[in-house]
Amino acid sequence: MTTYAFLLDLGRCIGCQACVAACKTGNELSPGVQYIHISEQTRGVFPALQSSIKNHRCYHCADAACVAVCPTGALYKEDGLTRLDASQCSGCAYCVDACPFNVPQLVNGRSNKCDGCAEVVKAGGQPWCVKTCPSNALMYGERETIMAEAHRRAEALRVRYPHAQVYGETQLGGLGVVMVLPDQPEQLDLPANPQIPAVLNTWQNVVQPASVGLLGFSLAFTGLAAIIARRNHKQEVAHLHVQNSAEETAAVQPDHANET
Ligand code: SF4
Ligand code: SF4
Ligand code: SF4
Repeated sequence: MTTYAFLLDLGRCIGCQACVAACKTGNELSPGVQYIHISEQTRGVFPALQSSIKNHRCYHCADAACVAVCPTGALYKEDGLTRLDASQCSGCAYCVDACPFNVPQLVNGRSNKCDGCAEVVKAGGQPWCVKTCPSNALMYGERETIMAEAHRRAEALRVRYPHAQVYGETQLGGLGVVMVLPDQPEQLDLPANPQIPAVLNTWQNVVQPASVGLLGFSLAFTGLAAIIARRNHKQEVAHLHVQNSAEETAAVQPDHANET
């Protein structure tokens, strides 16, 4: 199965926010809602200070905690990306608590986040943010191609930034947004090894098996109840049959008595 991914090259991103505006307009997001958050960051020690851009968005984790906890199937994986069908969202906010990158937000009682421009892409187009980026910091395509391009760019970037590297190849099973970083992840406020929250492990190891157990018990109980009901029904029918035969016999006997 072909999987797709985004390339986000922080060595090229200039923080212009064109992607933010294109995403808001293209997806007709409500005022105050946005799927991409850009901010500037200074790192290093004076006088060797360096500035970089933070580009926070859904990273489309392969092992997506949001998908694992969603009880209604509103969040799901497709083509390697994490989609959201908001019409199925119950507003429980489990995804908000579970995401290791603090991405989903509740808007009007429903989860809200980037869905990878599913409709646009299925219609043969490019995601709004990718189409608009003026510095070629964003790309979209088959994950294999994106990964090769990310490594090529990281290598080129190491001429200026010795710690430049690819982020997202292995983290959380592989991210659907593969990043080229000019520095170590921690220097750019990214966890080197993001973890699924412990509460989710409890959910997967305790709550879900318990739910399955309860479902099994419920099914077994329903089956048993059906067997008992059927047995009772059979006994009742047999009892009525005996009763009817006795009544018929009683109705016939007086005539015989009169004859003798
Ligand atoms: S970044 Fe958060 S919202 Fe996006 S796929 Fe990963 S867990 Fe889900
Ligand atoms: S892929 Fe689409 S929804 Fe996601 S950030 Fe880009 S424009 Fe917004
Ligand atoms: S449009 Fe491109 S260069 Fe501008 S902020 Fe977005 S990713 Fe960065």
